[in-house]
Amino acid sequence: MEIAIALIILVYILVKFQAFSFRYISKKEYEHYHDYLSKRFRYYCILIDDKERKKFIKRMLYMKDKKQFYSREGTVISEDMRILFSAAFTQITFGYDKVQLYNFDEVYIYPKTFYSRLVGAEVKGLTFKNGRIHLSWEDFLNGYIDEEDNINLALHELAHALYVDRFAGYSLPEWEHWENIATEEFNRMRNVDDHHFREYAETNMNEFWAVCVENFFEQPHSLREKLPHLYFATVGVLKQDMAVRKLSATNS
Ligand SMILES: [Zn+2]
Repeated sequence: MEIAIALIILVYILVKFQAFSFRYISKKEYEHYHDYLSKRFRYYCILIDDKERKKFIKRMLYMKDKKQFYSREGTVISEDMRILFSAAFTQITFGYDKVQLYNFDEVYIYPKTFYSRLVGAEVKGLTFKNGRIHLSWEDFLNGYIDEEDNINLALHELAHALYVDRFAGYSLPEWEHWENIATEEFNRMRNVDDHHFREYAETNMNEFWAVCVENFFEQPHSLREKLPHLYFATVGVLKQDMAVRKLSATNS
């Protein structure tokens, strides 16, 4: 009896903490999603080798199985939505071994911008501490259509989610380092007109973080050149170096 209980606990721990490696994919499944993501998701195209691509697909499918997608204001939830949003989840957490944002399991999709009573205005997206993400699908797609304008709604909202989740404990010292550097830049930004980030980053430190993440993924070289300390602090938190990734993609 005790052995049976110990076994159940062991399986639970393995599934909870090693979840990514438990998603088996067949060759056919791999080819299907490889083909799909190669056409639809730029970040996937700059992964360096088959090992990374397989890891990406496994994680994306894991996220897709785990997350619940809900329709709002008439959206018809499609397989494209599930795949692409799960790909965004995978992109932002790709540097971590096991961070899955499992506290954020509910995604509410609106066709376009929507009215939030809480904010008292039309919004593109909202991330709540209770684990719910709300977003406009039109703006999700726009975020990935222009990949160099430093605006990406999904990455912005997921950056908030990572922050609320406290990086599942993975990046706490790195986060402290990031906050120290960011506070300096945040204060400087509020006193000058000419700054690297769009003005919305001035709202508070949480928005500064989310805008920094958008810049990190869309224009990593420019961020690295203009604000190197902040860039490398962001590499530390997210555990991936986008500038190197983009460069190796152009060189290969
Ligand atoms: Zn925000």
